[in-house]
Amino acid sequence: MIQFKNVSMSYDNVTHALRNVNLTINSGEFVFVVGPSGAGKSTLIKLLLKEIEPTEGKLYVNNVDLSGIKPKEIPFYRRGIGVVFQDFRLLPDRTVYENVAFAMEIVEATRKEIRRQVPAILGMVGLSSKANSYPNQISGGEQQRTALARTLVNNPSILIADEPTGNLDIRTAREIMKIINLIHRRGTTVIMATHARDIVDSMQKRVVTFDKGCIVSDEEKGEYSFED
Ligand code: ADP
Repeated sequence: MIQFKNVSMSYDNVTHALRNVNLTINSGEFVFVVGPSGAGKSTLIKLLLKEIEPTEGKLYVNNVDLSGIKPKEIPFYRRGIGVVFQDFRLLPDRTVYENVAFAMEIVEATRKEIRRQVPAILGMVGLSSKANSYPNQISGGEQQRTALARTLVNNPSILIADEPTGNLDIRTAREIMKIINLIHRRGTTVIMATHARDIVDSMQKRVVTFDKGCIVSDEEKGEYSFED
């Protein structure tokens, strides 16, 4: 479970990126976070990743108070959270296979585990035939699949997707959404910030709308309800 309790965030004591946000996301939920530019979506994600600290209030992830996590424990905390971005962020000089294997090497998986798990995960995201390709040799959709595969190696309990379809055409975007939904159905909590109205409307999931740092609506199976 993720809980924001009276969370406010100000970068400079002038702009209030988030204002007194109260939000509970249960384990296994799928939540879209929407809102116009500057609404506070990225701030919410940065707080969850403990890249920044709230000015006020508390954040709990799986009952852990994030303010109590020591700097040296942060990498371990982040292992439980998979993150994908609009710009994929793959290692350009490593193949698809190596990008995924690298994520396992970081957590000191054995070679045997890597040899077993990487092909299985590449199969799951439909990338088996591209294992030996480099990021610049594959399409944007395939790069995003690689990024998703990379998050899966650590079995994250939470997947954060920050505008994951922003660089993709609508058909490819829908393919990526199928994979994200597949990950969700395995039990992962998904939090996806997006501007993609058609995707939000077609998925029929919970939609939390931010505006000027406040939650202005929170609807089960919501529809997109603002103009950017
Ligand atoms: P969104 O992701 O919805 O576009 P952000 O969380 O990026 O919104 O921004 C929320 C507010 O915080 C905006 O007013 C933005 O200008 C401000 N902001 C974001 N990052 C910083 C920063 N590093 N320093 C100062 N202000 C920031």
